[in-house]
Amino acid sequence: MAESKRDYYEVLGVGRDADDAAIKKAYRALAKKYHPDMNPGDAEAEKKFKEASEAYAVLSDPEKRRQYDQFGHAAFEGGAGGAGGFGGFDFSGADFSDIFGDIFGDLFGGGGRRGGRANNGPMKGANIRKSIRITFEEAVFGCEKEMEVVLKDPCTACNGTGAKPGTSPETCPKCGGKGQVVYTSQSFFGTVQNVQTCPNCGGSGKVIKEKCPSCSGTGYTSSKKRIQVSIPAGIDNGQSVRIREKGEPGVNGGPRGDLLVEVNVSRHPIFQRQDMHIFSTVPITFAQAALGGDVRIPTVDGDVIYTVKAGTKTDTKVRLKGKGVPSLRNSQVRGDHYVTLVIQTPEKLSPEAKEALREFDRLAGNSLNQDVSANSGGGKAGKGKKKGFMDKMKEAFDE
Ligand SMILES: [Zn+2]
Ligand SMILES: [Zn+2]
Repeated sequence: MAESKRDYYEVLGVGRDADDAAIKKAYRALAKKYHPDMNPGDAEAEKKFKEASEAYAVLSDPEKRRQYDQFGHAAFEGGAGGAGGFGGFDFSGADFSDIFGDIFGDLFGGGGRRGGRANNGPMKGANIRKSIRITFEEAVFGCEKEMEVVLKDPCTACNGTGAKPGTSPETCPKCGGKGQVVYTSQSFFGTVQNVQTCPNCGGSGKVIKEKCPSCSGTGYTSSKKRIQVSIPAGIDNGQSVRIREKGEPGVNGGPRGDLLVEVNVSRHPIFQRQDMHIFSTVPITFAQAALGGDVRIPTVDGDVIYTVKAGTKTDTKVRLKGKGVPSLRNSQVRGDHYVTLVIQTPEKLSPEAKEALREFDRLAGNSLNQDVSANSGGGKAGKGKKKGFMDKMKEAFDE
């Protein structure tokens, strides 16, 4: 019955002196290539897959490999079962779980290993996320805030075990304290072992018979804590500050998780921010724009007196260097403040102001009446003078 059986080393394509890593690597490649899930309905691939699995089951087990090296296929015939062939082969000694974990992780893009890991070692606690609201100026210059957070601490009554004082957690009977259980299942290519987190103890390996009354068996008590939050200058809306070890307690002596505080920055009535720069609009009067003069510009450092040049147009941009937001990395480095000067049109004017403006208009040669007299009295209309909008309108109506 075993005449047609290929040599196991030949099946895996490795030398007789191959080490465990080489054998595993060779099997891994074959299993990936011939796995039935990748070759549905392909009997030849299925046969190759079973053949490789059987070879791996023997060669990956030091004792079986030694027997095989000594006696060949005969080592596994005539014993218990003894039916020969692939179907009757005893796979129980081989651990396929990690290799299939790897393969299926690769095949299906699974994120890392599932289950199967002992999780009763020290583990860092979970992070806690909170948010805090601060003003525009607080974000620019940084601030100290205090916030209340409900934090868990190991229960002092039971020292975090969760067991009633005087008792102690017992070894989980289902997993024997290992935190994992091995499930054996039959599949068409033999017996497969699967390692999973123990459902009885959740992987801790311990069960609590009598719960601690102070913490109801959780091992933790919760209380409100006041926590100082140092918010660095230059922080922007949506960024977070990490406060180390103010999160959930660690497990089995692991460190606490962190507290992550997301910062929400309130809008400012006159300043807008983009990265390290601040933007604002400042109104100037027509007289200031025409004649030049000093204007008061609010910045985060207080008001700055800026001298507007005579003949300034509306929407002129002014850059106030270093009046922006400090860099988070180096608060000595600051962005700039960009100001847009906008000429305001007066809406309410006293009779005197109106008269003064009319007078101004006449002097500036903008008045319609003056244009008419100037054009008619001065001979050729518009000679030696640029035609304004009103001149053109007048000409259009005169035609
Ligand atoms: Zn307790
Ligand atoms: Zn258990």
